[in-house]
Amino acid sequence: MKKTIDDIDVRGKRVLVRLDLNVPLDGLQHITDDRRIRAALPTVQKLAEGGGRLILMSHLGRPKGAATDRTTYSLASVAIRLGGLLEKTVPLVPDCVGNAARDAVSNLADGDVCLLENLRFYDAETIKDKKAASDAQLRAQKDAFAQELADLADVYINDAFGTCHRDNASMLTVPQLMEGKPRVVGYLVRHELQFLGESVANPARPFVCVLGGAKVSDKLGVIRTLLTKCDTILIGGAMAYTFLAAEGESVGKSLVEPDLFDTARSLRAEAGRRLKLPVDSIVAADMKSGASADVCGLPIPANRMGLDIGPRTIAAYRDLMQTAKTVVWNGPMGVFEVSPFDQGTLAVASAVAEATDQGAISIIGGGDSASAIDKAGLADRITHISTGGGASLEFLEGNPFAAIDVLDDA
Ligand code: AMP
Repeated sequence: MKKTIDDIDVRGKRVLVRLDLNVPLDGLQHITDDRRIRAALPTVQKLAEGGGRLILMSHLGRPKGAATDRTTYSLASVAIRLGGLLEKTVPLVPDCVGNAARDAVSNLADGDVCLLENLRFYDAETIKDKKAASDAQLRAQKDAFAQELADLADVYINDAFGTCHRDNASMLTVPQLMEGKPRVVGYLVRHELQFLGESVANPARPFVCVLGGAKVSDKLGVIRTLLTKCDTILIGGAMAYTFLAAEGESVGKSLVEPDLFDTARSLRAEAGRRLKLPVDSIVAADMKSGASADVCGLPIPANRMGLDIGPRTIAAYRDLMQTAKTVVWNGPMGVFEVSPFDQGTLAVASAVAEATDQGAISIIGGGDSASAIDKAGLADRITHISTGGGASLEFLEGNPFAAIDVLDDA
């Protein structure tokens, strides 16, 4: 267990808060989805009400050093939206380090909030420790940048779960350099650790996992880890065809990864009856929207590809989910971006919500599954929707996060 913002007193202190305010912007710098800003509010409000002098920091996008980056990837719109939601002025500090940052911080009164400009305007933010280990210049560059940030504050807060699997300067080097000062997690990270960590480590049973997506190779780690913990794994998406083809089934033109056939066979042998595969699919000649689609069991004809799970699979998976006391879902059941291949994913979204209504703890592992839950309007019927796609997968795999480990234990 890590210390949280409830365990510390921030009154009068300079509090450096790493958030994930990496929201999508359109060509006119308008925010098209402000969920990440809203998700940060409880922590920011609590710290401001506690009299902290808040220095918020985040990355936005992937600036590449172009002349227009300072406009394209500016956090200006984020500062305005955050100010609106907090009902207070949140000035955007034009630089995250240097005199501008130091001056802005020295002008803060208790309860004030400022937002530093995009951390990724500095290459040092994303230098990997592994690379820096063999390059003293890179190490010095990353440390110098992190030291400037660390010097701004008396307290460090990590509430940026989506970036917790990275060793970015603001995520790891800064708290390392602030050793001896309070370094704790915010509410968002606390929730993620509670659900992705504790609920999955000690699940209420039966524990049912639903995994989908394009590639077995991307989900190997998570399948292996969840297999040691769950009672049933329901597989969907193109991933399922790699498992089926590995067993010698004909899957037509479906997307498969032949070099993973051996791995798929051994995973299936290990899992036995706990690993379920689709018994039918929605198939089409190609992946086009509105393509003529049919329900098809096995084998899938040579000129057809499986693009979604079929109705018998949906019914079987739904039945298994209804018995669950813990459900974890990551990855779409089909090409959910293209109608009519979105039905399996939407049906699983409903089944997760129904299981939750019946008392299960439901955890959605970010990314596409979170979008599907939103598209289906079911977000408020889910126990926990992770804010980190890549981070939630890595966490479920059981990978240690240095950016969390470095923080104070409760
Ligand atoms: P992932 O990023 O691994 O979670 O995979 C998500 C992607 O898998 C989405 O873009 C889906 O369109 C794609 N996908 C899911 N099922 C299939 C399928 N049966 N055939 C091809 N692509 C699929």
